[in-house]
Amino acid sequence: MIIVLRKDTTQKEIDQLTNAITATGGITVNPVYGADITILGLIGDTSRVDGTRIESFHCVDRIMHVAEPYKKANRMFHPEDTVVDVAGVPVGGRRLAVMAGPCSVESREQITGVAQAVQRSGAAILRGGAFKPRTSPYAFQGLKYEGLELLKQAREATGLPIVTELMSTADIDRFVEDVDCIQVGARNMQNFDLLRQLGRIDKPILLKRGMSATVEEWLMSAEYILAEGNEKVILCERGIRTFETYTRNTLDLSAVPVVKRLSHLPVIVDPSHGTGKRWMVDPMAKAAVAVGADGVMIEVHNDPQHALCDGQQSVTPEQFDGIMKDIRAIAAAVGREL
Ligand code: PEP
Ligand code: MN
Repeated sequence: MIIVLRKDTTQKEIDQLTNAITATGGITVNPVYGADITILGLIGDTSRVDGTRIESFHCVDRIMHVAEPYKKANRMFHPEDTVVDVAGVPVGGRRLAVMAGPCSVESREQITGVAQAVQRSGAAILRGGAFKPRTSPYAFQGLKYEGLELLKQAREATGLPIVTELMSTADIDRFVEDVDCIQVGARNMQNFDLLRQLGRIDKPILLKRGMSATVEEWLMSAEYILAEGNEKVILCERGIRTFETYTRNTLDLSAVPVVKRLSHLPVIVDPSHGTGKRWMVDPMAKAAVAVGADGVMIEVHNDPQHALCDGQQSVTPEQFDGIMKDIRAIAAAVGREL
């Protein structure tokens, strides 16, 4: 339930109304102070809330019922776009956020070299996996803690904030200490215990869409994080499983305008995992910007042929530079900047 307040409402009136609503218990009131309107979002079992009584308060303009199961992630709760600050880099505003780097951190030279190259081309955030979720237990699983150290060195060398995937709740404290944005991978999108615990920390979370998740399921996963108090959630469309086998996944670009309509959270697109093919990264990155994504995440490797993970979809730093030029042109056409 959402209560839209009249323009002239005072804080005292808001407090009185809030007290009346919470007196019966089981409901929390989430005020959102916008530039034009102030709303109160009610979370919990609102079936016992007496709408007529609420409407009798002078400050109430109208009541709206939220049909969707996600509340804090709902644009009705938060009409303005959320901008998430990743160590000084805004994600969700007019400026597009480009995250780039290798699938996995492999060595100091590799990660720092790629970081410097993507920075020269205009990337704002460095990506790189230290803990890799691999289909095969025999495949390279990442450099783990050593990978985190190498990421920190690359950040030190360039000043780029770092985003990397967390797989276990056991590592949360270490990630809070070491990284600027914690990635939840597609395979963990519905790891509810992980999501809940990430909701209790103060760190941006990049939540990838599960490979067979509907938009609603994806937003419900965001809700797990938001409900615990962490409102710094960035969504990432990375392709879903369909009957098509030509591409690794089917990059669902229609999810971008859908999410923008339903939610206030920023959404970026990962055309690397979304297609699985190097030559498709450029056209799909351009398309992502054209449909309103707040940024892109692109896998870049100095030597894709010898990459330990996802070489087939990784672009070289030179190719990445070309992609940046291309998306800059699209950004200008849709009123964004890079
Ligand atoms: C990745 O970003 O390297 C990754 C494993 O992505 P996803 O979880 O989308 O498969
Ligand atoms: Mn990858």
